[in-house]
Amino acid sequence: MKKTTTTVQAQPAGRRRWGRAQSPEIEDPYKARAKPAEPSYCPACDAVFHKGRWQWAPRLAGASAVTCHACHRIKDDFPAGILTLSGAFVAAHRPDLLSLARHQEELEKQEHPQNRIMSIEEGGDRLVISTTDIHLPWRIGEALRRAFRGKLDFNYDQDGYFVRVDWRREA
Ligand SMILES: [Zn+2]
Repeated sequence: MKKTTTTVQAQPAGRRRWGRAQSPEIEDPYKARAKPAEPSYCPACDAVFHKGRWQWAPRLAGASAVTCHACHRIKDDFPAGILTLSGAFVAAHRPDLLSLARHQEELEKQEHPQNRIMSIEEGGDRLVISTTDIHLPWRIGEALRRAFRGKLDFNYDQDGYFVRVDWRREA
């Protein structure tokens, strides 16, 4: 039997592997729920809704205040993505891993204001990062693998706007 090396593990039934083919076109229900009038701005984060999307731009005159969907998720504590880092390596290299995650968030957020880290829980040999979108966990996971190897799993929920990413490294 031909042996292939892959870092993506078999997925539980009912979930499909994250792949280009399944690259999600599902719209975030939080986004679908609220189509802000233009121009609008979010009083919580100062993002501006203009030309059909949230962006970082100066607030336009006469803009109305509308909570953006990222801030809405943060308020509801309802993440769209959860990235779990685990293993002995996590306990030993926590600051490096946190700074990598924050750096990837900064890069992502510049272009996509709605893609953010909601919270980071730290405990023992684990870090649990929740995000407002399904792209950021994937991005951080890939960056972790590039920088530190380890083992990466993606579980993308086909029926909902949700992704779970697990990265694990022992020593
Ligand atoms: Zn906002």
